[in-house]
Amino acid sequence: MPRLSSNFVIFVPFVVQSLLWQKGLAVCLLICLRQSDGSLLLAANRDERYDRPSSSPLLWGGKPRLWAGRDDQAGGTWLAVNEHGVVAAVTNRPIDVAPPKPTAGCTGQTPATRAQPPSTGLPGDQLNRPSRGGLPLLACRQATAKAAAMKTQEHLRGVAYNGFNLLIADRAAAYIVQNTGQPVLDSVSVGMHVMANRGWDDLADERVALAFGLIEKAGKGLHSGDTAQALEAMQSICRFHGQRGEPSLCIHSSLGGTVSSTLLAVSGEGKLLSYLFCPAAPCRGQYEELAGVLF
Ligand SMILES: [Zn+2]
Repeated sequence: MPRLSSNFVIFVPFVVQSLLWQKGLAVCLLICLRQSDGSLLLAANRDERYDRPSSSPLLWGGKPRLWAGRDDQAGGTWLAVNEHGVVAAVTNRPIDVAPPKPTAGCTGQTPATRAQPPSTGLPGDQLNRPSRGGLPLLACRQATAKAAAMKTQEHLRGVAYNGFNLLIADRAAAYIVQNTGQPVLDSVSVGMHVMANRGWDDLADERVALAFGLIEKAGKGLHSGDTAQALEAMQSICRFHGQRGEPSLCIHSSLGGTVSSTLLAVSGEGKLLSYLFCPAAPCRGQYEELAGVLF
């Protein structure tokens, strides 16, 4: 396998406890390793209500070809990748103004308390409420991350969404769109970063701090330059449980928890190397390599 260099970006949105599930705020964990040679490693724990239906990663129709799991309730996805090596992933985030009526899921819908936007043609529109899960799909219809970022920015000028973090990356560039009421687009530098529902590298968020700690601890596995070894290390991180009362990256509660986990590896040339998917909490299930099945 091609080797991974040591620089990377960590993107860890949403991680919440049972109380937030009860409030309807879902949580997600997303880790993106962006390297100086352009290669990418993305890891995503999808944290959802257990009763929200979804499908395993599949080939979506249209061009360019893209692959993504599907939120069967709203029709969007939490993570997508296309044939050009553009990856995009979204997580929910609290909004600073006009607090939303609680919704379920990483790819929930705009609450009824907000003004309804015009139809966007994206998943979720059957209720005229744009699903944030449509945003990775919109991004991955572009040939480059830069084009995807521009397209997303243009789209967001006319459509109001609930709060979210959206990561878009390819071998040449990476961007983050943070929406806490007003979408803001920033570029993502090569290096290590952690994002939770409050923003970049917020060590006040115990799970961001936890993720940094685990990455540091796994250092050799992630920094060895070997893709398979890095993926193995990332699996361990995605499975991590803290001691009682401590934060975890794989979560469980009565209403929801980590329902699946995905690991993606893209080479510095934009070639899709690995698409590992675990259709259950990664502490309980096994990752299956889908690259040979999907691509
Ligand atoms: Zn677990």
